[in-house]
Amino acid sequence: MQSSRIAEKSTPYWWEAAPVQPLPEQPLAKQVDVVIVGAGYAGLTAGLTLARAGRSVAVLDKMNPGEGASSRNGGITSGNIRLDYAELVRKYGEEHANAIEAEGKAAREFIYDFIRNEGLNCDFSLTGRFYGAIGKEQYETMARSAEKLQKALGVDSYAVPHAEQRQYLGTDYYRGGTVRMDIGGLHPAKYHAEILRITLAAGVTVHSNTAVQSITKDATGFRVETAVGTITGRQVLICTNGYTDGADPWLRRRLVPVRSRIIATEELSPELMMKLMPRKMMCGESKVLGYYYRPSPDGKRILLGGRDASQSGDPAAPTVALRDGLIHLFPELADVKISHSWFGNVAMHRDMLPRIFEHDGLTYATGFCGSGVVWAPWIGSRAAHKLLDDDQRKSAFDFRPMSSIPFYAGKPYFMPAFIQVYRLQDRIALARATR
Ligand SMILES: Cc1cc2nc3c(=O)[nH]c(=O)nc-3n(C[C@H](O)[C@H](O)[C@H](O)COP(=O)(O)OP(=O)(O)OC[C@H]3O[C@@H](n4cnc5c(N)ncnc54)[C@H](O)[C@@H]3O)c2cc1C
Repeated sequence: MQSSRIAEKSTPYWWEAAPVQPLPEQPLAKQVDVVIVGAGYAGLTAGLTLARAGRSVAVLDKMNPGEGASSRNGGITSGNIRLDYAELVRKYGEEHANAIEAEGKAAREFIYDFIRNEGLNCDFSLTGRFYGAIGKEQYETMARSAEKLQKALGVDSYAVPHAEQRQYLGTDYYRGGTVRMDIGGLHPAKYHAEILRITLAAGVTVHSNTAVQSITKDATGFRVETAVGTITGRQVLICTNGYTDGADPWLRRRLVPVRSRIIATEELSPELMMKLMPRKMMCGESKVLGYYYRPSPDGKRILLGGRDASQSGDPAAPTVALRDGLIHLFPELADVKISHSWFGNVAMHRDMLPRIFEHDGLTYATGFCGSGVVWAPWIGSRAAHKLLDDDQRKSAFDFRPMSSIPFYAGKPYFMPAFIQVYRLQDRIALARATR
């Protein structure tokens, strides 16, 4: 079974229902108010917001719109803030930390209103998320956090003891877990396609297969050189995240593209799905290199994702590793086929917080650290308000750029070593956990 072709397809499962495709070719305008680089969730929501405020906008993408992370992800509306509250206070002070936490809640609510109010047909369901604890100590800590979240922000969150775990998830692997009912799941490629639909309807011009090669300041704004011609913009917004390339070497020294891979099972029987995922929740676990997983929106398959540490691009080893992880959780799936295995890039950086900032007159909306289903549209729309000089809507994530990474220019030479360290940390945590 462990052949080099473990999965039938190496394209995202999501592309079956919502394939990414080029838009009809059209000439570049000579000049627009705002040029946006990157047609993922961030670039499109920024374009939408600006166009509705009366600005002329061109969005340029070197691939098909959505072909970056925005049509490849797990579709979990996690809206994760990777730093915990104590760490935020230590780094940014109490007032700023509170504003960041509050915006985390506002961003998730914004997305849900956005989906509802715009009528985005993207299989969104507020299912809740189960987060599994690998040991009893982790469970106690997570239970206290869930209680704090409930009290401080009014989020419907609670602990699930091990004895009740099977009501939520058909595995005995965890030692209990927590549930957050403000997190759900959507179909990421449909979500992107729908955002693209309303963005085009608002009058934004979106160009696929238009790689930006350089951006220089001139008297009226910025001259943007692309593979197919030149366009000038009074303002420029960069939304390239995990697909940032050499066209912006300054940003590339700050963002590390990290590969995340997802596998999808073949269709499972309704009885088995009911046994393994009785509440159809999104799932995660308390490990540094933890898995994220979920049922497909039609409830027929399980999709499981995690870090892809391979350097060669050969999907065999990382697919087998994810498949083994899946079977470890759900031994019932030992003989099940993997229909799809694909990867995409997330953008990690030293601050581990989504960010809006300016550098050399350019504005950036980026750095989503693997949680962009909520953050990218939110930060994209806030960045648009920044370009509109709307100080009322200034984001708590709008502050100095993240620092560059020493000796790094775009090739993450340190990642294999980091992954080994994280693996070791997880092994030690598991060995020490009371199980
Ligand atoms: C496998 C995987 C699973 C994930 N799961 C989740 C999840 O469950 N929940 C969650 O919240 N987040 C998840 N994420 C993260 C989420 O998908 C991203 O944070 C989000 O899609 C980022 O959106 P974006 O618009 O910033 O960037 P992207 O969608 O990556 O778009 C960037 C665009 O910039 C373009 N570009 C780059 N350079 C140039 C250039 N020079 N010229 C023109 N265009 C350029 C690229 O072609 C690309 O289309 C996951 C990501 C991956 C890869």
